[in-house]
Amino acid sequence: MSETINAAYYRRNKSFVVETAPSPLPEDDEIAIRIAYCGICGTDMHIYHGNMDARVGESRIIGHEMSGVVEAIGANVEGVSLGQQVVVRPLDHCGDCPACDAGHTHICHKLKFLGIDTDGAMQEIWVVPAHTVHTLPDDMRLDHAALIEPVAVACHDVRLSELQSGEDVVVIGGGPIGVLVAMVARDAGGNVVISEVNPNRLAIAQKMGFDTVNPAEVDLAATINERTGGKGADVVFEVSGSQPGVDAMTTVAATRGRIVMVAIHAQKPTVDMFQFFWRELKLIGVRVYEPVDYEKAISIIASGGVDAETFITDVAPLDDIQTAFEALDRSPTAMKSLIKVGKDV
Ligand SMILES: [Zn+2]
Ligand SMILES: [Zn+2]
Repeated sequence: MSETINAAYYRRNKSFVVETAPSPLPEDDEIAIRIAYCGICGTDMHIYHGNMDARVGESRIIGHEMSGVVEAIGANVEGVSLGQQVVVRPLDHCGDCPACDAGHTHICHKLKFLGIDTDGAMQEIWVVPAHTVHTLPDDMRLDHAALIEPVAVACHDVRLSELQSGEDVVVIGGGPIGVLVAMVARDAGGNVVISEVNPNRLAIAQKMGFDTVNPAEVDLAATINERTGGKGADVVFEVSGSQPGVDAMTTVAATRGRIVMVAIHAQKPTVDMFQFFWRELKLIGVRVYEPVDYEKAISIIASGGVDAETFITDVAPLDDIQTAFEALDRSPTAMKSLIKVGKDV
């Protein structure tokens, strides 16, 4: 183990600085991971734009969509070995609140998100609580493995939708998470349509083999009605975070349809509550993921259920993190940008 590591610090005002830091060592219940890749998440872009300065502080190593290999293991840790390929489920719960007591540790009332509330994976060695680590098959590509965190989000969303094979699905919003939800829903046997207004995103969704609708050009509800013989969508994922998306979710849903609220609506949208009464619709809240969703995401990546090659649109070394964020901010076509954190991992 070398004495120092490279780490990228977010220092506010859209700026990152890469500096050397002492190589961290794990405490008894921790694991040190040599990071291979770390994806740039929508949340990381929010941080870059300064929207989360109060939460991340003045100097924070961000990043949570990572992959790597075990570098060092704390004295109390069992079940992992040095050199093993791993990912981290970046949630640290308190263990002592009503949500934790009920077994819902992923929505702990005092949840700490690693890489936002604590330092994250944009550094060569990342030390994390052992309970957050999931092991990977030895032959999994570590660039593909960096997609496991966002795929786990999609696995959680699809699991809570109770999607059955053969059901009709509409995904409203074709950004990175929308496309992953669509891929996982398709993997589960859903007949998926993606609704998206951005032509670049439509082109990518089509390249991945999805039927798409541009609601700026055609009537979405009429199109879905036609496809489903007048029934509507059994499951609707609202991933757009927009008022038009919320308007559309009730109009495309079938009688007793399930609507899954994936997007984070910072403003309170207007919702057509009458439709929930009239057609017995169901609204399902979803947030992050649970261990079972991580295991599902690992198996989907391992089996090629996600088109990782098309989904990963850029890879840049840690030294270029600043330009990688600037490029992603400008790019109309990017899906997932990865930072290659380790030089020889
Ligand atoms: Zn993320
Ligand atoms: Zn808790």
